[in-house]
Amino acid sequence: MSLAKLFSVSARVRATGANSMLLRCAQYSSSNQESKEQKVYPPSMPGYMYVNPHEADMSIKEMSDRAAQTVFWTELARGMAVTLAHIFKKGPLSPRFRGEHALRRYPSGEERCIACKLCEAICPAQAITIEAEERKDGSRRTTRYDIDMTKCIYCGFCQEACPVDAIVEGPNFEYSTETHEELLYNKEKLLLNGDKWESEIATNIRADHLYR
Ligand code: SF4
Ligand code: SF4
Repeated sequence: MSLAKLFSVSARVRATGANSMLLRCAQYSSSNQESKEQKVYPPSMPGYMYVNPHEADMSIKEMSDRAAQTVFWTELARGMAVTLAHIFKKGPLSPRFRGEHALRRYPSGEERCIACKLCEAICPAQAITIEAEERKDGSRRTTRYDIDMTKCIYCGFCQEACPVDAIVEGPNFEYSTETHEELLYNKEKLLLNGDKWESEIATNIRADHLYR
C-alpha cells in the first residue's frame, strides 16, 4: 500500500469517527462481489474492509476473561511488567549519536584543540566561547573554552568544523542537572568528559571514518 493511500485511509477513518480499523484493500476491490458484500463496512464506503473480528466472542470463557480483565485491571499489571522488564535496558546508539560534548587529547596527554575558533564561528547558537593565547613553545592553545549547554541545539556543526577532532559530541546522554549553572561547561569539564569517554568516542569516529 502506498503512502498516499495510507494517508487517504487515515483521513477517511478520522472523518467517519469510526473506532475500528479500516483498511483499503486494493486486491479486495477486485475480489468477488459476494465476499465484498459481506465485509464492506460501513456499507456507504465500498472499497474499505473491516479488519477487526465482526462480532465479539460471546462464549462463557471469553466473557469471563474480559470481565476479569476489566475488573482487575490486568492490562495495567501486564503493561507494568513490560515496562519493568525494559526500564533499565538501553538501546544501541549510532556512532553518529550527538550527545554531551567533550574535548579530546592526544595519547601523549596534550590537548588536541589548536584554538582555531572554527567551532566558535560555526556554532549557530553562539554557545561556544573561546579565548586563546600563544604558549612559550609557540603553539596556540585555548585559555578559555566554554559551552553553554542550554543554548546548544546539538547540531554537530562544531565537531564537523574541527580540523583535529578535538571537540566532539560523545555518546553520553545522561547528564541532566538540577541547576542551569551546572550546564555551563568550561574547559576543565570538557577535557574531563574527553578523558572519561575517549575509548567510546574513538571507536565511534573509527566506525564513521568512511563518511567523514
Ligand atoms: S552542537 Fe551545534 S549548537 Fe551545539 S555547540 Fe556545537 S555547533 Fe553549537
Ligand atoms: S575545538 Fe577544534 S575547531 Fe574548536 S577551536 Fe579547537 S581546534 Fe578549532
